[in-house]
Amino acid sequence: MFSHNRRKLLQTSGALLAAGAMSSPLRAQTAAPRVVVIGGGFAGATLAKYVRLWNPKIQVTLIEPNPSHVSCILSNLVMTGALGMTDITIRYDTLRTKYGVSIVADRAVAIDPVNRRVSTLNGSQIAYDKLVLAPGIDFDAIPGLDSSVLPHAWQAGPQTLALKAQLQAVPAGGTFVMSIPQAPYRCPPGPYERACLIADSLLRNRRAGKVIVLDANPDVVAEAHTFHTAFSTTYAGVIEYRPGTEVLSVDWASKKITTNWDTIQADAANIIPRQKAGKLVVAAGLLGSAPGARWAPVNPLSYESTLVPNVHVIGDSQGTGQPKSGHMANAQAKVCADALVRYFAGEAPDPAPMTNSACYSPITSKTASWLTVVFGYDAASGLMKPVPNTLAEAPAPTRGHYEDMFGWAKNLFADSFS
Ligand SMILES: Cc1cc2nc3c(=O)[nH]c(=O)nc-3n(C[C@H](O)[C@H](O)[C@H](O)COP(=O)(O)OP(=O)(O)OC[C@H]3O[C@@H](n4cnc5c(N)ncnc54)[C@H](O)[C@@H]3O)c2cc1C
Repeated sequence: MFSHNRRKLLQTSGALLAAGAMSSPLRAQTAAPRVVVIGGGFAGATLAKYVRLWNPKIQVTLIEPNPSHVSCILSNLVMTGALGMTDITIRYDTLRTKYGVSIVADRAVAIDPVNRRVSTLNGSQIAYDKLVLAPGIDFDAIPGLDSSVLPHAWQAGPQTLALKAQLQAVPAGGTFVMSIPQAPYRCPPGPYERACLIADSLLRNRRAGKVIVLDANPDVVAEAHTFHTAFSTTYAGVIEYRPGTEVLSVDWASKKITTNWDTIQADAANIIPRQKAGKLVVAAGLLGSAPGARWAPVNPLSYESTLVPNVHVIGDSQGTGQPKSGHMANAQAKVCADALVRYFAGEAPDPAPMTNSACYSPITSKTASWLTVVFGYDAASGLMKPVPNTLAEAPAPTRGHYEDMFGWAKNLFADSFS
């Protein structure tokens, strides 16, 4: 779909660029359109790359404080020691050298949607014609929980290594407590995958005591059959799954975790708080005033905010109801990039965009399962909806799926960052 649309666009790029210059209300007719992207994860990096690929006349500036992206995808394998940090760390160099993306190593702190400017921590003011926010997620506070001491590791990086240290510190026969927040959260099968790998690691190192899984949801959120089977067979006697159980507070000085049912004594823990859109999305008023809003409402044809014009939100921060995954962030970024290229050409967005998602989950150190779904735009409701018969999952974890996982991840990393 994309290549066909873009081929058509590139064939007629001269005429379209002229139309784009005329349609831009703020800019002189000869000036190049400016797209500014905040956040260089799977969403923001893909957006920056594809806007430049599909129309190199558009200036793209990526604001991202880190020199490289550390992928959450495969990060549970760093926790177990199967992979190293370098395997999940991707530099931004190619976006600059191959696609001409300007990279500003800074943090965006405020948006002025009237004058179309972004302010950064170091005091820069960066002007845009179109702004794309892709800052990922933020977390609710849990009383007593300090994630710099007890890592959630739901953003990869130093916390991934801190979680690995937690796992290594479990004494023989000890208790590891992990919690799963209320959905929707980043990567639906991810926490269950992590529980399996913690149990696998303890078993392989002959330290198996107990892994207590506190799930704020009434049941397993994704691949229920696969994970229930793993919990009750492969990890029988090790994983204790407790649905409907929410962490209310943590006292890590005495290693006690209090839930809506009881207080549990742990030796090590991984508490993953409930999630919401990235801080800047909230600060910019992009959630609106609906009580309890956590994700930014957008038009799924372009990912433009329904509240603030010329500001688009993609990836985990947006609220279209599609799964929050890196694969989906990459797909949304391409829909948004296509809509921006069309906008500057004076065209309407594609009226029937499609996206898809895939998650691979290692279940043991040698096997994995997978889950996939395709979404399509439903014109009657204005929503993205799962395309009938596309929701599929591996019937059982296998060694073959484990091998395929690395090929899938390699392709996704390359398509997003190089
Ligand atoms: C354990 C685990 C396993 C996973 N497995 C899979 C999987 O198998 N398949 C899959 O598809 N997905 C998986 N995911 C989910 C995937 O990692 C996320 O959905 C994806 O990273 C979302 O991309 P994003 O670009 O929206 O956010 P992020 O990747 O979090 O990127 C956000 C970026 O924005 C930057 N940023 C934030 N605020 C600012 C600011 N103010 N100024 C400038 N920059 C800013 C951050 O530094 C960061 O680089 C997994 C996640 C976890 C935790």
